[in-house]
Amino acid sequence: MSMLSINPITGQTIQFFPIWQADTIDTVLREVESAQVGWALLSVEQRAVYMRQLAGVFRQRRDDYAHLITDEMGKLLKEARAEIDKCAWGCDYFAEHASTYLADEIIVSDASRSLVVYQPLGTLLCIMPWNFPFWQLIRAAAPAMMAGNTVVLKHASNVPRCALALEEAFREAGFPANTFRTLMITANQAETVIADKRIAAVTLTGSNAAGRKVATIAGQHLKKCVLELGGSDPFIVLDDADLEFTAAQAVTARFQNMGQSCIAAKRFILVDAIADTFVQRFKMLTSELRSGDPKLETTTLAPMARADLRDILHAQVERSLAMGATLVTGGKLVGTEGAYYAPTILDQVRPGIPAFDEELFGPVAVMVRVKNAEEAIRLANQSPFGLGGSVWTRDVTRGEAIARQIQAGSVFVNGVVKSDPRLPFGGIKESGFGRELSYHGIREFVNIKTVWVG
Ligand code: NAP
Repeated sequence: MSMLSINPITGQTIQFFPIWQADTIDTVLREVESAQVGWALLSVEQRAVYMRQLAGVFRQRRDDYAHLITDEMGKLLKEARAEIDKCAWGCDYFAEHASTYLADEIIVSDASRSLVVYQPLGTLLCIMPWNFPFWQLIRAAAPAMMAGNTVVLKHASNVPRCALALEEAFREAGFPANTFRTLMITANQAETVIADKRIAAVTLTGSNAAGRKVATIAGQHLKKCVLELGGSDPFIVLDDADLEFTAAQAVTARFQNMGQSCIAAKRFILVDAIADTFVQRFKMLTSELRSGDPKLETTTLAPMARADLRDILHAQVERSLAMGATLVTGGKLVGTEGAYYAPTILDQVRPGIPAFDEELFGPVAVMVRVKNAEEAIRLANQSPFGLGGSVWTRDVTRGEAIARQIQAGSVFVNGVVKSDPRLPFGGIKESGFGRELSYHGIREFVNIKTVWVG
């Protein structure tokens, strides 16, 4: 068995990698478990030196890594470069703040001294998706490692070269041997690794199907897990929104990374008063997007990461049209080579239509028309998902009041939803549980220990 790296622009296989046998997995887990002992003995400040060096490696090798991402999963080269910059920021951020986030907390109680200390759990298994192949891993691993955990990565099968490059980056940054390792394993093998006694905890970023599986196995073995799963973020446009600005932001929110982002705006919920104008502007801006070679500056629309994912998306569009959605533009494959899909707009979408009920992980914008703000909130919340959302209005007080009523892990007012090392990130409902980033994220994989002295 092997893992294939396939160029989504051409459909050609770039390289293949053999899947590891059980004895190799066993050796690496032993090495990483043993490295954790020494890593945990270092002070947070000592660990921060390595983390800053990793940020330096990302800055130095920015272009190599960006090309690797684009070759393997197809995103625009400029977006890949921005992803590497974000990795450097994330490493620096946790290098700088971990000592504050993990400092002992003195608590007044009936003891002469009582305090909370934050200690590592051991080795964390990170199961990661391909859509931000560097950033997803760094946002999970940087805080966990600053807390004294070691990490093993099971990356998505279509980005094996990114997975190996990440291991190399930690090595180049001078991290002690075996504090971070990449496992070249399948999803089935990952299930066995979760159960392994040398793994203390698991974090998964991926689909709901994978989330259910991982949570079940982690539950059977009583292991802590964090799940960052799918989303169907509402993008609510109220009657007083600045439509020119909002439509431009909306196009970015839906089509960046070729729509393959968990926090992409997926359901545009438009009050009737502005719906026609908004759809018209959105369509006009969408028509300016240009499919092509993602390495060219002039290209604004990349291929999707895999042809099979493009085909799943197309089937969702066709099912939605058959159930009453209307096609404003797109709805078809582009060219005969690679995984290109035309930027698509579906209008008149409502609950019961797949485009409303399911996650559309690609360049398809879904327009939902409502009478007023109350109906917008009700439909925004009528989703199995609860990851992100945004509200667009000139009245920021009203916007914030509505943000509080949206069932999601993050809601932005007049801004495109994004992850930021300073702010917690995660979902509710079927979008998962637990948080990444900020001090909430760094405290997910620690033993929050009470020490009581009489
Ligand atoms: P996926 O198919 O679930 O894969 C994600 C990772 O899970 C891959 O490494 C995959 O390995 C592994 N995996 C799948 N089934 C597994 C199992 N039974 N046991 C252990 N590991 C398993 O998701 P994807 O298609 O790569 O990514 C798209 C999904 O991720 C979307 O739903 C998106 O919304 C979600 N996502 C969420 C966030 C967030 O922060 N909430 C961020 C990005 C993406 P293989 O590749 O070997 O199958």
